[in-house]
Amino acid sequence: MSKVPINQIDCLPSILDNPLTCPGLFYATPAQDGIISRIRIPGGILTTQQTRVVAEYATCFGGDKSVHVTNRANLQVRGVQVRGVQVRGVQVRGVQALQAALFSLQQVRLAGIAEVDHIRNIMASPTAGIDQDELIDTRYLVRDLDNYIQSHREVAGLSPKFSVAFDGGGISICQQVNEITFAAVKIDTSVYFHLLMAGEATNILLKPEQCLFVVAALVRVYLNEVDANQKRKPRLKKLFQDKGILKYLQQAQSYLPFPLTFSEFTYNQRINTNHHLGVHPQRQEGFSYIGVVLPLGKLDIDQLYQLATLADTYGGGSLRLTPWQNLIISDIRNEFIPQVQEIIKNMGLHWSATHIYGNLVACTGNKGCAASATDTKGDALVLAEYLQQHITFDVPIKIHFTGCSKSCAYHGKSDITLLGASQFENGKTIEGYQVFVGSYKHPFGREIYSFIHKEQVPKVILRLVQVYKIMRVNNDESFGECVDRYTASELQRWFHVGGIE
Ligand code: SF4
Repeated sequence: MSKVPINQIDCLPSILDNPLTCPGLFYATPAQDGIISRIRIPGGILTTQQTRVVAEYATCFGGDKSVHVTNRANLQVRGVQVRGVQVRGVQVRGVQALQAALFSLQQVRLAGIAEVDHIRNIMASPTAGIDQDELIDTRYLVRDLDNYIQSHREVAGLSPKFSVAFDGGGISICQQVNEITFAAVKIDTSVYFHLLMAGEATNILLKPEQCLFVVAALVRVYLNEVDANQKRKPRLKKLFQDKGILKYLQQAQSYLPFPLTFSEFTYNQRINTNHHLGVHPQRQEGFSYIGVVLPLGKLDIDQLYQLATLADTYGGGSLRLTPWQNLIISDIRNEFIPQVQEIIKNMGLHWSATHIYGNLVACTGNKGCAASATDTKGDALVLAEYLQQHITFDVPIKIHFTGCSKSCAYHGKSDITLLGASQFENGKTIEGYQVFVGSYKHPFGREIYSFIHKEQVPKVILRLVQVYKIMRVNNDESFGECVDRYTASELQRWFHVGGIE
């Protein structure tokens, strides 16, 4: 831990005195396993120097000697305890040690000012700047917006759900609904951004240099309307709904130095296909990136240090976290890819898009969220182990565990969704799941089981995958496409044969 002038820290509201429902670094969110500490990583990209400071923080204060990548490409440290640590041979008491650690994070620009720490992470395509298909590198827009947030303390008056995303046209992040999204599109030879408000296309096209002005104007309308001292702030999207998007934009117009104009070009959402896993050529000739699968977003501290060394030795000195709870190492010379793969394998990790963990996502679950009916992460781990022993995936199958219908961990369409539920049986509360498949109109697809016990999950999912392998037209047909071709009663017949053990 670096030496820290603790009396210089003016940024530390008492962590323990500021419980919030959304975790931050300076605000506590208590969970079953201790405090959750969330570190914003704008655009998901962190340098190896920043990585090591996070690893040190998690080592000193984390509960399970690991970090977790979230679905907004944040890093979370769980089970945080305020405890003393050794600083260069000197024992430092708990709160002072924690202050010192937060100061270290601030020094590497990971912790900004405390007042705006609750604002959600800025999202961007995780392959920004390296993607062969992208239309524009959004990294400078992310940096400019983060600078704006960190230098405008009045932004503290926003709801903690305030969220902005930049989609540069490569790997899409538009399935994650943000309150403000800028989605790149090429018209003739120029690149513009479609403006989306709470996921709704506005048909307004912006030049890249206009985006930050628009965020600032939308923020000003909100701050004029909402009492800054109000404890529970409404979401920006609630104001969009209440006022109507057109009226909201008319008010924002008065803060803009250019006119907002509606275009005839309509917005078409691109579907993410999880192509970030495995090895991919970059737009920089002779270089590739590798998408690394993390089991449910979890990384041991040792693995974190090893990945930092790997990125320094063979890559561009940074790690890119993805909203699908995996990570990317970029800027690897093509000839070094086999060595990098070997090292990743020796770390106990993998890069294959068909690896079970590559497409398995779980929300925090009842260990970290009071709304959850089940231990989603624990149950997903049990499923992953079982499937690894019993079947090999030859195509990616997206499996999503969610503790309630909010579906924090995954906003796209999954192939299989398990929605946490409980029921009362023989005087006891039993945890289990409602099971959905495919992409029918219901947000989770079609229900095929209204409730199964959590112990039944591995065998039920194994059966679904086995049946899909028989029913599919060919290997190119995804699980979702395959089940969507059948009627509900046909699916019931196929899946329910033999009942549930
Ligand atoms: S999906 Fe529901 S249970 Fe899971 S983390 Fe979000 S609010 Fe909690």
